[in-house]
Amino acid sequence: MKNKKITRKITQGMYVLTTKNGGCIVDAVSQISAGDNPLISVAVMKTNYTNQLLKENDKFALSVLSMDVNPEIITTFGMNSMRDINKFETIKTTEVEGIKIIDESLGYMVCEKIDTIDNDTHTLFIGRLIEADLFEDKEAMSYGYYQENKNDLIKVTTEQGKTAWVCTICGYIYYGEELPENFICPKCGVDKSMFQKK
Ligand code: FE
Repeated sequence: MKNKKITRKITQGMYVLTTKNGGCIVDAVSQISAGDNPLISVAVMKTNYTNQLLKENDKFALSVLSMDVNPEIITTFGMNSMRDINKFETIKTTEVEGIKIIDESLGYMVCEKIDTIDNDTHTLFIGRLIEADLFEDKEAMSYGYYQENKNDLIKVTTEQGKTAWVCTICGYIYYGEELPENFICPKCGVDKSMFQKK
């Protein structure tokens, strides 16, 4: 492969995907059919706890993040797991069709899950749009913009006096002088070359 970076040019956005009892940040969302109730697909990493929750639930929602998103939303939903914290405790949400949506977003789409397709690293969930609203007609954040600017958008706080290795993909922090041999990010599955020393 000559340069895989070209895949960054696929236009993807930044969304908070929620379902009952959890949620996470996703970028791979597409509208894949037309009509009043189009189909929406979303790819979710298999290692992600939200993936497990989605398999058990029949509805999910996508809240669309804006260019001036509150970074706390990204750190809470993108860099933590509901296995460890309650993400809904600090971020304001409203329930629509039984699913929590993010108040500080451009709007939301609630879908009824109709299909699940497993691929190698992700599961593709396909849902039919049953409810949607636009709160603010502003520019949505693109995944490419987030990747280019994430160091300014999010300040990763590490423990003082300790060497930290931060996953540049998901924000997971490993404390230790060196990363172990063959280390794999326990959250997103990338190898140690994707970690940055802080
Ligand atoms: Fe990671």
